[in-house]
Amino acid sequence: MPKIIGIDLGTTNSEAAYMEGGTPKIIPSAEGSTYGGKMFPSVVAFTKDGILVGEPAKRQAVLNPDKTIMQIKRKMGTDHKERIDGKDYTPQEISAMVLRKIKTDAEAYLGDKITQAVITVPAYFNDNQRQATKDAGRIAGLEVLRLVNEPTAAALAYGLDKKGEGKICVLDLGGGTFDVTLMETGDGVFEVAATSGDTQLGGMDMDNALIQWLVAEFRSEHGVDLSADRQALQRLRDAAEKAKIELSGTMEAPINLPFIAQKAGAPVHLDRKLSRTKMEQLIEPVLARLEGPIRQAFKDAGWSSGDVNHVILVGGPTRMPVVRERFERVLGRGVERGVDPMQCVALGAAIQGAVLSGEVKDILLLDVTPLSLGVETLGGVYHKLIERNATIPTRKSEVFTTAADGQTTVEVHVLQGERAMAADNVSLGRFYLSGMPPSPRGMPQIEVMFDIDANGILNVTATDKATSKSEKLTIMAPQRMDQSKIDQAVRDAEAHGEEDRRRRELVETRNLADGLAYQSEKELETYASQLSDETKAALRARIDELKKALAANDISEIRTAMEGLNKERLKIGVEVQKKGPGAEAAPPPSGGAAGGSDAPGVVDADFEDVDKK
Ligand code: AMP
Repeated sequence: MPKIIGIDLGTTNSEAAYMEGGTPKIIPSAEGSTYGGKMFPSVVAFTKDGILVGEPAKRQAVLNPDKTIMQIKRKMGTDHKERIDGKDYTPQEISAMVLRKIKTDAEAYLGDKITQAVITVPAYFNDNQRQATKDAGRIAGLEVLRLVNEPTAAALAYGLDKKGEGKICVLDLGGGTFDVTLMETGDGVFEVAATSGDTQLGGMDMDNALIQWLVAEFRSEHGVDLSADRQALQRLRDAAEKAKIELSGTMEAPINLPFIAQKAGAPVHLDRKLSRTKMEQLIEPVLARLEGPIRQAFKDAGWSSGDVNHVILVGGPTRMPVVRERFERVLGRGVERGVDPMQCVALGAAIQGAVLSGEVKDILLLDVTPLSLGVETLGGVYHKLIERNATIPTRKSEVFTTAADGQTTVEVHVLQGERAMAADNVSLGRFYLSGMPPSPRGMPQIEVMFDIDANGILNVTATDKATSKSEKLTIMAPQRMDQSKIDQAVRDAEAHGEEDRRRRELVETRNLADGLAYQSEKELETYASQLSDETKAALRARIDELKKALAANDISEIRTAMEGLNKERLKIGVEVQKKGPGAEAAPPPSGGAAGGSDAPGVVDADFEDVDKK
């Protein structure tokens, strides 16, 4: 049976693994790894000899910075293009080059064709980013059987699925990002409770702190500014990273860069020693930034660190003693050991591959949606169908209706976010369901279904129940929602909670009032022959009063007018019953508080939530 490989497609580096005899193993790249890091730097370079990927691409980056592409993962799911030699490349195509290199090296190492893979993605990756990752796999000739969240894969590698029920905190500090994920496990099921992080915090920030120090030291010693020289800076970057990595295992690291500059025609060399203590001082501002996202995730999940049964570390910089200490200090407890934090995500992906092939049983992986998902309804109100942190795969449907008489098309506007009004959330796309037979407003039944599959990919379908006509979402405007934006969205929702509630209340009351006025006018027409002139005039006056209140846009005036009209409407029932049936229409109103349940509330948009009424 062909092997399913697991791939950790990282921002700075990637890693791959496969299962052998029930144990996941790392797949080496053709070149091996440098500095004991991951096997495949996520780097692609365009050279006159062709396209280089991985270690060879990283090695020549100094000499070819303009045609060397790094960190393409940050652009996944956007419409960004890399223009090289007059040709445009999408992020998917660049990522596919990294994946193809992994596929080729894996085939050479395993002596077998590889056509299927499990690829990991950050827990907060949105639909576009996940879709783009799947597409990259396809372009590389890999069928992506499953996308797995990185922290889930890491937990699998640590064997936490077998350690019974518990709460897990995953701290993933990589080259350029920091992700915190809180998960619960039990019966082989993982469920994400909260995610937080910083998309601009990682090992590279530490390298930058060391570079700044080296530049300043060199300037004061030789009077030469290395920061103005691009190639010198790249050499400094490599040397700083190498020293930082060495210092995870030693107390002092040499930094030697011969011929780094010229002064008065003579070569100048950089030759220093960096102690671990000095490095720890230099990177302190970076370490200080680790605390915030951890606290945020615990706050979101409503957990305290004492609730946690396992803390697991992911990513190269978590090999540093000072980083471990910082995490232990913030959480007030020890961290799990025994699995290499650089390898655990790829190893977990390989385990998930084995679950899918049937080699490993009894693990089911559940993840959650990072933000709520919903549609825009009448008056610009955001109506959530799937709540934030809902466990996926999930599917939810609701029935909506039209807002105008004779309406044959509805627009389905799909949004992601926490705010009450549609305009304050992120638009994921919109589509139209057209060709419905013209009918009075409120009559058509349009079922909108949200379906998030196990990969976190969202499909939205709208179906007109009468004709069974149906349309599906195609996302038109690619957008990106990274962790900081998710956190921002949640914070905004908290900060604007009261104001949003008021705006929403006004729109909803307006919708109900408008529907009530419409309904009452219809009733006035339907029962005209059975009503006394006095009742008809009173109803007319109440309807006009409500319309006036609507025009004034004052919520308490609207409510009072609705109450008045509802009271008046009760007379219809009384008079019709007295006179006996005369009209073939819906039964007359027999009660109804303000915003009675039979009033379709509508103002001017074209889509209305039926279930809510
Ligand atoms: P990752 O995103 O997990 O591939 O991590 C990449 C980052 O880990 C880079 O910034 C590396 O410099 C850093 N890194 C790798 N190994 C070590 C180590 N032993 N000590 C400190 N940092 C490391």
